[in-house]
Amino acid sequence: MTKIIIHGGFFSESSTNLETKIAKQNALLHIVKDSYQYLQSHSALEAVVYAVSLLEDDALFNAGIGSQIQSDGKIRMSAALMDGVSMKMSGVINIEEVKNPIQVASILMKEDDRIIGGEGATNYARKHGFDVFSTEIPQRRAEYEAKLEAIGTGTVGCVAIDAEGRIAVATSTGGKGFEIPGRISDSATVAGNYANEFCGVSLTGVGEDIVSGAIAAKIVTRVTDGMTLEQAFDKTFQELKPFDGFAGAIAIDNKGNMFHQDSHPSMVYASFDGENEEVFQ
Ligand code: ASP
Repeated sequence: MTKIIIHGGFFSESSTNLETKIAKQNALLHIVKDSYQYLQSHSALEAVVYAVSLLEDDALFNAGIGSQIQSDGKIRMSAALMDGVSMKMSGVINIEEVKNPIQVASILMKEDDRIIGGEGATNYARKHGFDVFSTEIPQRRAEYEAKLEAIGTGTVGCVAIDAEGRIAVATSTGGKGFEIPGRISDSATVAGNYANEFCGVSLTGVGEDIVSGAIAAKIVTRVTDGMTLEQAFDKTFQELKPFDGFAGAIAIDNKGNMFHQDSHPSMVYASFDGENEEVFQ
């Protein structure tokens, strides 16, 4: 029963052309199928790191290469990983000039101190062989210079269940763009990335709204307590309405059900179970 679902943040109908939409559909389908193949001979934990690394390497998405630029002109990225079996979460917050923040999060799994931020995270990465790598692309610099908030570039994420029924989740982001340096994204918190033996959830959207809604942890808790994925998503997304929370989420439960929902159109996602593929339209 191996299954995998990924997201690549949001896109805005008004500012995205058809060509970019098709490119994102193709990229997501390619990455979800490649990662599904990888999952056949690897654990869910290894597969989510693999999938998110591919998403970070694709400049179409706002994580790793193609990350948004903060208000002081620098890129700071965040990424986290959670193993639903051991219940361990590891992550980096505001790391700089590393090609794959999710791989730094992955090696932190073996440490006692598993979530580290800022200069400490960047230094840790250097010490563990991650070379200085600029993830800036000319398009983001041009958007930054023009003070153009690139709405809809989003975060990336993946949830997988492996042949042994183990669930894992990984999430990686370049942030919202134009942040105050030091701002903390939801992606390396239990609001944006959470899993246990029942369910795994990864988020994209406005980090402040995702934290206010404690979304990933709430959905996982609700499924653990007996709700279906659909019920848990419905209740949790209802709770965003009073403050018009902006979020999108993907999930897999331990029965192999996959689910996704967004508060505002349109989150970009794709899933694959070996037979059926689904991609956002
Ligand atoms: N959630 C991310 C953040 O606020 C951004 C996004 O998903 O687009 O840092």
